[in-house]
Order: sequence, then structure tokens, then C-alpha cells
Amino acid sequence: MSFSNDRKDPRAEEFFSFEITARYGDLARAGVIHAPHGSIETPTFTVVGTHAAVKCLTPNDLRAVGVQVMLSNGYHLLRRAVMIDAAGGLAEFNGWRAPTMTDSGGFQIMSLGSGLGKIVSMSEEDGAISSNVFSSSSARSEQSEPDDIPMLDKSSGGPVVRSASSALRANEYDSEKNCSNAPGRARNLTEVDDEGVTFRDPYHGRIVKFTPELSIATQHKIGADVMMAFDELTSFGDDYDYNVESLERTRIWAERSLREHVRQANLRRGKPYQALFGVLQGGRWQDLREKAAHDLAAMRIRGAEFDGFGLGGAFEKERLGETIKWMTRILPENKPRHLLGLSKPDDIFVGVENGCDTFDCVAPTREARHGRIYTLDGDINLRRSEFASDERPLDPECDCPACCPIRHCEEPRATRQSSGLLRGARNDNNYFSRATLRAMLKSSEPDEKARALSLLSRHNVRFIIRLTEQIRASIIDGTFDELKSFWLKRYYGTIKS
Ligand SMILES: [Zn+2]
Repeated sequence: MSFSNDRKDPRAEEFFSFEITARYGDLARAGVIHAPHGSIETPTFTVVGTHAAVKCLTPNDLRAVGVQVMLSNGYHLLRRAVMIDAAGGLAEFNGWRAPTMTDSGGFQIMSLGSGLGKIVSMSEEDGAISSNVFSSSSARSEQSEPDDIPMLDKSSGGPVVRSASSALRANEYDSEKNCSNAPGRARNLTEVDDEGVTFRDPYHGRIVKFTPELSIATQHKIGADVMMAFDELTSFGDDYDYNVESLERTRIWAERSLREHVRQANLRRGKPYQALFGVLQGGRWQDLREKAAHDLAAMRIRGAEFDGFGLGGAFEKERLGETIKWMTRILPENKPRHLLGLSKPDDIFVGVENGCDTFDCVAPTREARHGRIYTLDGDINLRRSEFASDERPLDPECDCPACCPIRHCEEPRATRQSSGLLRGARNDNNYFSRATLRAMLKSSEPDEKARALSLLSRHNVRFIIRLTEQIRASIIDGTFDELKSFWLKRYYGTIKS
């Protein structure tokens, strides 16, 4: 929260600020976000720990691969908010003790009922690397990972019903698992109206109304360094008229979020400062995206304004840069911009060169757990039989604990020798080979499998973090275009513009 005029809060500048240290081209920048729990060098990737922890990874694991920020979810932590508050906030609660962010939770709730755009299917083999149409909001919804919260399967999603008279958006779907605790009902309902989002909570089956005020109050209790304003996602299938209506609702919700933020900040004086980002929607329409940027950049409530901005919603992949630029050329330069829910290398390059500073997505860790491993020469599916005797490291150019264990004090040989399944696996090199990791991943020994999940997760996270570290360095030394060409040529096998 930034205050202006006579209501200026000195904590704002003292505890949250963004410093641009280098620029490249029209919009790319490297910088440092100064937050209460530490500084964040940008551009960087924000690892997603939906429930206040990243699956299979400890805080030390995250630090060791260069993670600076963890993003959790306001909705998923709703029931724990009081406990987290009592523990001193998210950074203390999970032992991370470094900068954190929370998403508003609106996506996860609405995604319970909304037919979203492209969601990368983890059951696919090697075909889900990119698509022409995708939604960062759908990627945001991946923060609610399928094994956490039942998600709408597109193939089984019910029809989108819109009430013209009430401007309600209702999405129904069947989910036996989702409603297992719901007394007497086998259907769920998510409704969006001007007040907020009404849904049946899959945790306990009760009808809950989630509003901007509840989201912000919850995020204050969670205590992340950066919070997101409550917004409505639209899917790629929504038409222009619906996006106009939705964008106005998101604007009003942003005002209410900011107002509640001011109220909570006053109620909770003495707590660490928390920044609030406004979230921009507008689908694929330039006038709506520009309106969102103008509205949120100018928004003031009792002297408070947004500390930064989250760019979300549905994007056409081929027009991602153009769509981002519609917003970033309007947004104030001195505030950080977070591109919500995207982590593919080409998307990160496009995001950075069009003025985005931070990124998040659950994909690197979730894909790792499913055996989809990132390498500079493209992703591999480690479960494939072709890797059963592959003694190469996952990526010879990687410096993660799996590929370069000496650097991280790991002991791959001891691990191999402790395993009957792996005994005899030939690898005299000092790294975990693809064959070893594949065998560990497929092992029936829980400890061995858990070790594989951890190593593979660290590898994928390190891959994306290393990419952002290199991008940051390239902005500083003026070689961004060369790095982009090199990376995309290697990763995708061709040069992408
Ligand atoms: Zn690695």
C-alpha cells in the first residue's frame, strides 16, 4: 500500500519499494524489490507452495536452487489463516523466512466451476509443451493442484449458464469427490455476482461467499509480503460483452480490496508491512486491457494506491507480448509487475522483454513429480523406457543437486547403494543419472520415490530459476537478445521471435 499526500505512511517506502537497476530495449528491466522479509532480485520466478509449503521440497531445498520468493494461495490457506497469523505470518509459519506472496484465492474458487482455457494436461506424454491459446488464469488455477482440490475436467464440465437478468455467472459440474462431504447434494455450484463468488467449499461441503473483503482480510492474516487484489477471471471462451461486464466488476472489487487493505492495515498496526498488487484482466481486447491499466494505476482509496500489479487472464500465446505491452506501457514504471501463472521459457522471455518482473506457476514442480523434466535441449518424459539405461545426467549444463551433487553436498552413490532395486545400476559419475532417477521415481519404496520427487522438483525449479538469473544478467550486460535466441533455439529447436 502506498500512501500519498498527508496520509503518507512512512512504512511504505521503508519496507516495500522497487528499484530498477538496468534496462534493455523499450520495456525490459532488471531490478530489486525491497520487501519486509528480504530483497528480491528481478526478473525472477516465484515458486508456488499452495498450502504454505512446496510439495516435496524444504525451505533449504528452495534456497539451495536460488528461489527468492514463494507464492501461496489465499483460498487454500483460509482455514489456517488464524494459525498462520499467530505463528507470525507465512514466512515464519513454514520456516521459509524469506519473501512470500499470496494470490487472492478468487481463481481457485471460480475455477471450481469455470470452464477455463488451456490447462496443461499432466497425463499427456510429450505433447503439452505449448499451445496457441492459454490462460494465465488457468495456470493460476493450477496453484490448486488436482491432488489438492478437485478441479473441473474440461471433458466433464457442465454448461456455462449465464443469467442475463441477474448478471450471475453460474457453472455447474459434477464431482463426486468434490461433494463427498456435502450433505444430500451431488452437485456443486459456483456463482459470480457483484458481491463476490458463492461456491460450495469442497473441504467441508458448506456454501461459502468469498468477497474482496474476505480475501484481503484473509491475506492480511496470512501475512505475505505481497498480496493480490480480488479479481474475476474470464476464460478464453468468454465474449467481449461478458469481458466488459467482468472488467467493471474487477475494477469495483479492486476498489473494495484497496479499501479493506487500508482498514486492515490500520487494525493491524505493528505487523510487518504488506504490499497489495492490483490485478489486470481484460481478455484479448486492447481497449479492455488498456482500461484495466488506466483504472488500477490511477486508483486511490483514502490516499492508498497499489504497490504493484498482477497481469492475469486469458492470453493468446502468439499475442502474449502484444497483450502485455498494452498494459505495461500504461502502468507506472516504478512499480513491479507480476505475470500470473506462466513459466515456459518462451513466455518468460516475452514477459520480461515487455516489462514483467516476476512470474509464478506450479508447472515446474508438478511436472517434475510426473516425470516431465526440463533440459536445455527440450523437455523429456523420464518415465519412458528409453531412459532406463541412460547414464547421462538430466541436463549436463544444470547445477542442481541432482545434476551436480558435489556442489550441494548430496551423496548419490550412497543413495544408490542403499537401494536393492538400484543395486548394480552403473554410474561412476558423481551425479544422479537419468536411469537412476527413473528407477527411483518408479520405485515401490516410498522413501526412494520421495527422494526422486524431491530431486526432480529441485531440478525443474533450478532450470527456471537459472533461466531468470541469466535473463537478469543479460539485461545488465546488454545481451538479452542473444540469450533469448540461444535459449529458444536450444530449447525449442528453432528460433522463436
Ligand atoms: Zn539438474
